[in-house]
Amino acid sequence: MQELIKLHKKSKLLGLGLISGGLDSLIASLILKLQDIEVVGLNFKSPFCICDKALKNSECGLNLYFEKLGINLFFIQKGDDYLDIISNPKYGFGKNLNPCIDCRIYILKKAKEFAERINADFIFTGEVLNQRPKSQNLKALKIIDKESTLEGSLLRPLSALLLNPTIMEKKGLIDRSKLLGIKGRSRKIQLELAKKHGLLKEYFACGGCLLTDTRFSNRMRDYLKFNKNPTMNDINILKYGRHFRFNNSKIIVGRNEFENNMLIQIKNANNLIMEAKDVSGPVTIIQEKFDENIINFAAKLTLRYSDAEKPYGQIIYGNNPKELDKMIIVKKISDEYLKSFIL
Ligand code: SF4
Repeated sequence: MQELIKLHKKSKLLGLGLISGGLDSLIASLILKLQDIEVVGLNFKSPFCICDKALKNSECGLNLYFEKLGINLFFIQKGDDYLDIISNPKYGFGKNLNPCIDCRIYILKKAKEFAERINADFIFTGEVLNQRPKSQNLKALKIIDKESTLEGSLLRPLSALLLNPTIMEKKGLIDRSKLLGIKGRSRKIQLELAKKHGLLKEYFACGGCLLTDTRFSNRMRDYLKFNKNPTMNDINILKYGRHFRFNNSKIIVGRNEFENNMLIQIKNANNLIMEAKDVSGPVTIIQEKFDENIINFAAKLTLRYSDAEKPYGQIIYGNNPKELDKMIIVKKISDEYLKSFIL
């Protein structure tokens, strides 16, 4: 976590918002700022976040939006304890490996600790009732409130009028009549408000969460199965290349130059690296153990995904990418055979 600056309470009420960089948390913050409440944002970072769409529009939504609203942002990295949630979520998964209800509880617990440290008066989110069928229905929201021990004090400005008033509203510290009653997936009202207040002209959704992606979820399940002490540091490599599980070993084959470079950069020091000799092609990484069979299989894959035209070819390998000092001759693997090992 970045160095924490203790915010000295001013005369204004201070709300800590869970800020994703998307439209909903932006508008939730706007609604509160419009009634003269001071807002501070908290964003959770993790290797599961994908911000590609925001990046395509040259700026991360977080910068784009919150510079305009003048909101201070703090960042917290989800730790290895987040992997316990993915391994065994109390409230189960969404369609893939996304434990959304447990995930919300996890970040709200951390946010509560953070709110105490900066003397925030309350916490709010950009959640919208029924926007997501599993984690944002009324029952799920109540579970989230209870488990995060924020029952009665967690404000959801966008759907507040459809929910029970929070303590802050009951005390008259937050004007309930200026909160909204939005539900469902449409972002029409949020976008209109963003345009009206000059925050943005068009809405580009953030990339979202890799745990909702089927292929990534398969890789993640495999990772958790084969690693007794999983760490967040290991997750990045799951994003790149084609992944194969063969004889309890993991083999990753780069799909292009960018991925080849990334794989070399983020692999562990004890991983084995392979390339086709004198032909352009993938960088292949072998994690965990590598016996003769595994090296053979990985070499056949490396040849298959290289530009080699002949069925046989030379593959070089070693631990140091600048000095692949061992060599093996193999035949290309057939596409039919490799299918059963792909993750
Ligand atoms: S989509 Fe991902 S980040 Fe969002 S609540 Fe679900 S698990 Fe958490």
